[in-house]
Amino acid sequence: MDKLLFTPGPLTTSKTVKEAMLHDYGSRDSKFVNMVREVREKLLTLAEVSQDKGYETVIIQGSGTFGIEATISSSVPRDGHLLIVINGAYGHRMAKICSVHGIKYTSLVFAENEIPTIEKTEDALKNDSSITHIAIVHSETTTGIFNPIKEFGALAAKYNKTYIVDAMSSFGAVPVNVAEFNIDFLVSSSNKCIEGVPGFSFIIAKREKLMQCKGQARSLVLDVFAQWEGLENDGQFRFTPPTHSLAAFHKALEELETEGGVSARAARYKENYQTLIAGMRKLGFKEYLEPEKQGYIITSFLYPKGNFNFKEFYNSLNEKGFVIYPGKLTQADAFRIGNIGQLHKKDVEALLQAIESLLI
Ligand SMILES: *Cc1c(COP(=O)(O)O)cnc(C)c1O
Repeated sequence: MDKLLFTPGPLTTSKTVKEAMLHDYGSRDSKFVNMVREVREKLLTLAEVSQDKGYETVIIQGSGTFGIEATISSSVPRDGHLLIVINGAYGHRMAKICSVHGIKYTSLVFAENEIPTIEKTEDALKNDSSITHIAIVHSETTTGIFNPIKEFGALAAKYNKTYIVDAMSSFGAVPVNVAEFNIDFLVSSSNKCIEGVPGFSFIIAKREKLMQCKGQARSLVLDVFAQWEGLENDGQFRFTPPTHSLAAFHKALEELETEGGVSARAARYKENYQTLIAGMRKLGFKEYLEPEKQGYIITSFLYPKGNFNFKEFYNSLNEKGFVIYPGKLTQADAFRIGNIGQLHKKDVEALLQAIESLLI
């Protein structure tokens, strides 16, 4: 049996999702083209929008960061300026993307255990009228903190800024209404809460803003507008499509529906999370974040006092069939345990037992 992945992705997937990959589809095969069309439609439904309401889905080959880089480098014009609201490594990554592409940006940095405030962000907007775009991460996987993307959307709308959300580790398991939240570009990927396998990222875009990306891209393969145009014209990808992972994702979306949609998935992940923190607290571990800031996707735990050796801890759990994740914090020693993927309460209980056995 495969090890259980308590990580932020790739994740443990269902047997049936893996089995969906036991076929070879040609990129022009009508069955494959139909799957792509259905996937693009279903993603809009998950985002609580539709083409009729003016939204589009673009699929880009590569991992989640490819989608973020594609969005930033296609949507910010040459004379644009991106304000990046940062409280973790994934926010900093967006700044790195800007710097590579020579895109003007401002980093508004908050502590990793702090929720960014509207007030400070509004001040930044008032202080610099050259800002055209705002970007923020929804579930900062660095810590597991949830950022209030609806409130930031209202702020972006108030100042008429284009609004980009990295919803990589939340989309599919945390309800989002892209129109209501005023999101212009939402980015997520195939191997997070929808429980597919790695291979592509996707962008839910407001059509009006997507049209403005035409001719603006700084990269051929990461051109969001050209990618959309290809998919829209003949249902095909411009370059070799990730056929197997698309088939797996198509199946994963079906299974998400069968489970009961976003709210049911949220309920399962919350149960995993509650089981995890209750068990870890009993074993003497402490979370890094205050509980009211902590989301139910992934949790950072501080290294316990004394001579705790994470590498040994990690390896022993790995040998028992449980894969956890190292920390990514700059300020504290911590490790992470994810609640997402095909994991259920019984799996979390099994992990807790394994951890307990190492502490004795
Ligand atoms: C997973 C993740 C990404 C993308 O990472 P990749 O390794 O490129 O898939 C981006 N942002 C957040 C918040 C993530 O959790």
